[in-house]
Amino acid sequence: MDRREFLKTCGRCALFCAASEALVLLPADPALALRRQKGLLGSEPSPFFSALGDGSVRCELCPRACVIDKGERGWCRVRENRDGRLYSLAYGNPCAVNIDPIEKKPFFHVLPNSRSLSVATAGCNFECKFCQNWEISQARPDDTYNYDLPPAEVARLAKDLGCRSIASTYVEPTIFTEYMLAMGREARERGLLKVMHSDGFVNQGPLDELCGVLSAVCVDLKAFTEDFYREMCKGELAPVLETLKRLKANKVHTEIVNLIIPGKNDDPADILEMCRWIKAELGPDTPLHFSRFTPQYKLVGLPPTPLATLYAARDTALNTGLEFVYVGNVPGNPGENTYCPGCGAVLINRVGFRSTVLRLEKGRCTQCGRPIPGIWD
Ligand code: SF4
Repeated sequence: MDRREFLKTCGRCALFCAASEALVLLPADPALALRRQKGLLGSEPSPFFSALGDGSVRCELCPRACVIDKGERGWCRVRENRDGRLYSLAYGNPCAVNIDPIEKKPFFHVLPNSRSLSVATAGCNFECKFCQNWEISQARPDDTYNYDLPPAEVARLAKDLGCRSIASTYVEPTIFTEYMLAMGREARERGLLKVMHSDGFVNQGPLDELCGVLSAVCVDLKAFTEDFYREMCKGELAPVLETLKRLKANKVHTEIVNLIIPGKNDDPADILEMCRWIKAELGPDTPLHFSRFTPQYKLVGLPPTPLATLYAARDTALNTGLEFVYVGNVPGNPGENTYCPGCGAVLINRVGFRSTVLRLEKGRCTQCGRPIPGIWD
């Protein structure tokens, strides 16, 4: 570990220890530290490509549809054409391995107060100007410190550490779909859930395969305009909406996060349109999190989201008929709690990442009996 990395790690530790539920940094685990070194550690053939006849391939994992010449990589930096075949350079080589509270994903309707082993590789298929994890999302796996962690080892580690799920998160995990599929199978065998936090920018074929191993997905719906996706993320909105509909069709528990950035995606008319779309296409019981922006990466000049903006967005969603609407990144706010849409009782009280289940048993409100969507046991 060099000096810069050491200082960064100390800073993160101090930050996380200040929170009531600390994120555990696993490099402290000696066995795991031994498995960590800089640069590429391995690769795996990918089935998600078409050969184009001239030695180049087209990656079929996400709508970017990169055409990749021999020896070159796709836009996300982790998929390479080797002699006319596509390889994942992220398989079994995560650069971030942490234990997080499941609420940090954020999942508010999945196993409250449980731990999730969070795993991320380098690379991403978006380039968001407000990315919190740009140091790994915009990096090549050649340039990050990576762990040698095959899927079975991830599942063993999760079980040994008392985690109830394995989360793929921090960067866009569908760029390492092959790794996720294998981790998902290993997780099932050990009675663990496989979950992910995704930008939703993935093709339907790979997504259907992922739905076979995923129990829950948290999708960033970053805005409700194509302009925002193009200018702020170098992405597209339409495929993300298709992903949300496909997750519902596949009956995968789904929660949505909308990070509200001042002056960028806070138009009340757009927020209203987004809420109406969620209710109509996904149902009123889809959990929606409005998260507070804090200055990051290329948007350090912007202020944090005013609380009034978050409250107004939550009111809009509730008035539209959405039943589970949360305010995120504002610890201790009543908008973090889960309320019963039937009788108004507080079902789960939250402060930051700590949950207290008050009136919920076997997925029902104990006061009025209304079923509450989620994975509760
Ligand atoms: S997953 Fe990566 S290589 Fe494949 S199409 Fe998307 S950005 Fe390109």
